[in-house]
Amino acid sequence: MASSGHRRQVLLFLVAIILPCVVLVALGLRMVVQERELSEKRVADGRRSLTNQLRQELSARLDRIALEEATTLLAQQERPTSRDYANPFVIFVAGVTNEHLTLPWEHDPRAARFRRQLDREEFAGFVNRGERAEIGSGQSGEAVAFYASALAAARDPAQAEYARLLRGRASLAAGRRSAAFRDFASVLGSSVDVVDEHGVPLALYAASRLVEADVQREAVVDRMQRTLEDPRWLPPTALYLLRDLVERLGPSSHSVGDSTASALAATVASRLESTEQVMALQRDFPRLGLAAGGLSTHNAETRWVVYGASPWLVGRSAPLGGAGDVVVAVRADTLLEAVESAVSDSSGTPGDLMVVSDETGDGELLGAAFPGLVVRFPSAAGISNDGWDVRRWFYLVALLLVLSVTLFGAYFLSRDVRRELRVAELRSRFVSAVSHELKTPLTAIRMFAETLQLGRSSDAETQTEYLETIVNESERLTRLLNNVLDFSKIERGKKEYRCRPDDLADVVRASARAMQYPLEQQQFTMNVEVEEGLPTANIDRDAIEQAILNLLANAMKYSGSSRQIGLRLRRADGQALIEVVDHGVGINPGEQQKIFEQFYRVPTSDNDGIPGTGLGLTLVRHIAEGHDGQVTVKSQPGEGSTFVIHLPLEDGRA
Ligand code: ADP
Repeated sequence: MASSGHRRQVLLFLVAIILPCVVLVALGLRMVVQERELSEKRVADGRRSLTNQLRQELSARLDRIALEEATTLLAQQERPTSRDYANPFVIFVAGVTNEHLTLPWEHDPRAARFRRQLDREEFAGFVNRGERAEIGSGQSGEAVAFYASALAAARDPAQAEYARLLRGRASLAAGRRSAAFRDFASVLGSSVDVVDEHGVPLALYAASRLVEADVQREAVVDRMQRTLEDPRWLPPTALYLLRDLVERLGPSSHSVGDSTASALAATVASRLESTEQVMALQRDFPRLGLAAGGLSTHNAETRWVVYGASPWLVGRSAPLGGAGDVVVAVRADTLLEAVESAVSDSSGTPGDLMVVSDETGDGELLGAAFPGLVVRFPSAAGISNDGWDVRRWFYLVALLLVLSVTLFGAYFLSRDVRRELRVAELRSRFVSAVSHELKTPLTAIRMFAETLQLGRSSDAETQTEYLETIVNESERLTRLLNNVLDFSKIERGKKEYRCRPDDLADVVRASARAMQYPLEQQQFTMNVEVEEGLPTANIDRDAIEQAILNLLANAMKYSGSSRQIGLRLRRADGQALIEVVDHGVGINPGEQQKIFEQFYRVPTSDNDGIPGTGLGLTLVRHIAEGHDGQVTVKSQPGEGSTFVIHLPLEDGRA
């Protein structure tokens, strides 16, 4: 019965609590997983949309730039050599002829003009004769005169400055230093438009002579600065010459400040760097995938490739009108920064987007129009995931709560079930113990009564002994039944104590007397000590007597081989103490609280075969507590036990 009831309970628990809980947890977990996937998708979508915005913004800007520059280029008669482009991001613009880049300085009209001017008859004649005298026969003085005539015949500034340059050189060779420096100084001051056939300003050659002679340094530096400030592209030769001059001037020249020299050096270096990159681009152009008829014609978007160490975005645009293609190179870093911050601002994303050139493709690819460019999103949290973090915590806490409540429930239920199982088992043991306990005295009573009835025992002494046994056994039976009845009353909450002031010494002595015969029969000696003069106590006399008898009966049962029992009444701390002392088997410390539980019997081999119901001490405790007192035990296994009933006294004095 009991076990099927428990099975039902467990089943009910499983069906009503565990099952829904498992379903709930599974659903919760699924929701968490789905939410996470959704949030990841949202992040990916966000990234894709940002990448699209970046691509569109970049494309739009670059297309605008390309169109603007191509239009400007085509509107000009001559190929422009200016580095001042309409858009500040542009580094250079070049035309494409037969798949070859025409660099800005390659078709300098001034250089072409210079060649023609030198070839004019009269001027060329004097120059030739001068050169023959100077180089051919080493007649520097004569050469000076020819060059002076050439100067006189000069019709334009280019011829004049060239003649001065030659005359200066010849004067220097002839040892006429001051005359030479005058000529060089004059050329140094000439216009930037006076360039030789390579596009190198003649002033730079004069500067070189002056630096070599270590004169007029300030004028030279000033001239170099002016040359670099000119908005036109300088051909590489001019830049190499400038670098050479900077090096020869030295960093700590006495007349030129350190900062001026280093600023000059830095400007020359950066100009050279971009010029060399332009030349490299010209070389690499056929390999860049920007050929006409390439991707750009299939695709509406212009293709932009990343090029160079300090990267440029290079694109080719075919302006309408078929006037030839134009290649535009744009400074990548500053333009990308501008695009990044524009997109960050418009999309409300914190500004940690980054467009980088990365061949490994670690990031979102910017698109086919920008090969090699990827967008990096250093912080995933930067893209809204709609409070997913908060929700995730909420789900986890809720799940944990459900789980812990269920586990708590399961724990308490299983504890209750275990306790009930134990009580059920104790009860069944109790029934067999009671039957056994009833049977033993009944058999004895019946046996002695029948003997007397049949008149088999003739002498009076034996008859008295038989009668005493019958009385004794029936008293034991009464005690047992009283215990059982009282326990059942306690269980039903019906047990009442009728207390009156009474003398405890009397009660203790009466109990001792009641046990005298059974004690004697089992050869026990009982030492009774009663303190005299104790005040009365408010007690239910029968109940207290029953408690003392229970303790004495236990002392006999669990005495082992010892035959000494003590019964004491004394007073301590304003209480009456009734102590029952034995020297028997004793009780383990771990069992000393359990023995007061109903039906509990210590499961040791010592106790095997000792009859009992496990109710005696339960009643003793109930009786003591019913009198506002308590029962305590002190015991050592193998040395015996002392049970003490503490009862309040009427006068309560210590
Ligand atoms: P029982 O009918 O089994 O004696 P009790 O409630 O009186 O039931 O005692 C409970 C258990 O306590 C006993 O089974 C016994 O193991 C232990 N016990 C009680 N009194 C003593 C004692 N004086 N010495 C040793 N063990 C004792």
